[in-house]
Parts: sequence; C-alpha cells; structure tokens
Amino acid sequence: MRIKRIDVGEMQIPLVTPFKTSLRTATHVDDIIVRVVSDDGLCGFGEAAPTAVITGDIKPSIRGAIEEVIAPSLVGMDIEDIDGVSRKLRTCILKNTSAKAAVDLALYDLYAKSLGKPLYKVLGGGSREVETDITISVDTIDKMVADSVKAVAEGYRILKVKVGKEGIKDVDRIKAIRDAVGDAVVIRVDANQGWNAKEAVRIIRKLEDADLNIDLVEQPVSAHDKAGMIYVTANSSIPILADESVFTPEDAIDIIKSRAADLINIKLMKTGGIYEALKIAAIGEIYNVPCMMGCMLESKISVSAGAHLAGAKGIINRADLDGPGLCSIDPYEGGPEFNAGMIILNETPGIGIESVPCFTD
Ligand code: MG
Repeated sequence: MRIKRIDVGEMQIPLVTPFKTSLRTATHVDDIIVRVVSDDGLCGFGEAAPTAVITGDIKPSIRGAIEEVIAPSLVGMDIEDIDGVSRKLRTCILKNTSAKAAVDLALYDLYAKSLGKPLYKVLGGGSREVETDITISVDTIDKMVADSVKAVAEGYRILKVKVGKEGIKDVDRIKAIRDAVGDAVVIRVDANQGWNAKEAVRIIRKLEDADLNIDLVEQPVSAHDKAGMIYVTANSSIPILADESVFTPEDAIDIIKSRAADLINIKLMKTGGIYEALKIAAIGEIYNVPCMMGCMLESKISVSAGAHLAGAKGIINRADLDGPGLCSIDPYEGGPEFNAGMIILNETPGIGIESVPCFTD
C-alpha cells in the first residue's frame, strides 16, 4: 500500500474564550491540516499548529516544508513500512517539527487504518479512557476564578492554571482558585518560562507553605536555562514538569540525567509526531520519569492522535489535551469522544476522524 499523494489544507476554528499565556494571546485555532492518500483509496489525517513563540513554525513555513520537501520525499513509499517512512520523514528536512508532526500523524492514522485497528491499540493497547485537564488562561484573579468555577461545573476535575506574568502575585491567583473550587480538584500550574529561577523558588515555597496541594509546576523558567531548571527542581517539593525545555528524545535524556525536571511534557508539535514521541515515552519508562501528553492550541485531529498515544502508554500518566474543549465547534466527523475532562477513544480504525471540511473531494 503506497503513498499516492499528500494534500495540505487549513482550518480556522474560533475559541470559546481567548487563550492567554505569558507568551501569547490567541482567539482561534488556525492550523494546517494534512491528508495522506494511499494508492488503494484510504486516507489518514494530521494537523499542525503554528506556534511561532515555541516551535518557530508559522503556517507558510509548515506548508512549504510539506509541499516542497516532505511530500516529494515520501510519495511512492510503502505505508506498511511505517518505520522506514518515519525515518525518511525525520531525516528529509531538519527541524520543522510541526510540519513533520502533521505528516507523521496522518501516516500513523493511515497505518492503523491499514491494519483495521484504532491507533491506541496499534501503539500499545493500554486504556481507552484518558482524563485531561483544561487550561485556565492568565487574566485578572476574578476572571480566572470565574473560569475555574465554570470549568469544574462543566465536569472538569483537573485545572491547568496559566501564570508567569506577575511574579509573586501569581500565588494570589492560585490561592483564590483553590478557595473557589475546593480540595477535590487537581490544580496544575504552568508558568510558560515566565519566572527566573530564584523567583520561581520563592513562589513555589509560598505555594508549599499555603498547602495548596499543587500537582506540578510546569516550565517555571526559560527553556534554555537548564541551570535554572536544576535549581528549581532541587528546591521544590512540588514536581517540576519540563515543557519548552524538551523537544527531542536527546533533550529528554539530558533533562532527566541532569535532574532538571521530575516530569516530561510530550507534545507532538515539539517531537515532530508519534515516532519521536514514542522514544521519549520509552526514555521516561527507562528512568521512571512519568510523562504528560500535552498539546498546543490544536483542534481535534492532532489532539486525538495525542490521546491515542496517551491511552497506549502507561508511563504517560497525565494529559493536557484540552484543545477541542477550548474550540467553540467541532467541525469534524468521527474520532474520540471529548466529554468535559474525559476522552473516550474510538474503536474505529486509526484516530477515527472520518471527514475534514477543508477536503471536499
Ligand atoms: Mg506548557
């Protein structure tokens, strides 16, 4: 079963509420969509989120990488040799991880479809249910409390609270949210590189002293400040999660062996897809470092692929896969069910997406 062609489209989906982190504000998911078509008529879908401030990728660069380099390199290859195709994808162009992710996901979707199995079963088996948190954007305290209470009322049991813009005042945000939602809700904190190392330790000490029961603190300092990550991790009883610091399996080994984090956030847009993400999961397994499956501002196609990977692997014991939950509509047919925080993986082949509006033929 050979790759006949690779199509590129685009989807714009408005968000329920603007997505604000210490790095950016967005009002839409505005993503590149990929369809890989085989010579016997099956097709697989993938998606790339242009996240310039994290991956350096923008829509024209993603489209260009796929149309000018990746597609000509892969057309004609045998999809059942998923290892060979993935190795070619990894080496045909440097970096460009979002473009690679979109194509990689479509390849894995197509591969699983060729086997007639849902992707999570092809990748490992594991569990059909994945529980995700939902992001609470950084804003005024009142707005963040209101958003948190609303999310809990909708059924979410885990909140990921974005901070990192106001230093020590972030403690007030988290305290107010904890007071409002009660003790049963899991709270994760993501600073998106917004603190320096000493400031981070000072803030984390206050969170510890206030007994706020924080599940983890994500990327407290700059992605490239490894010494800072080591310092914060050594001085925190709350687990530290590396996000922007880990793109590749090599990064994961380096961060883990340096004790620069306690947990790793795997995102398909950073790894360039499932092929490399599987390696990070294996590294986590080797060093007994649990992983979170995360996403950028993505819609249901790539988030579904992430959910299948999270379901397949026991070492991925946390999920931050709230993209579809942030979108105001679901424009696709098929795929996993997203019911507030619970994701129920499809039993249909692949990632389950059956139709995508940007491809009408
Ligand atoms: Mg993050």
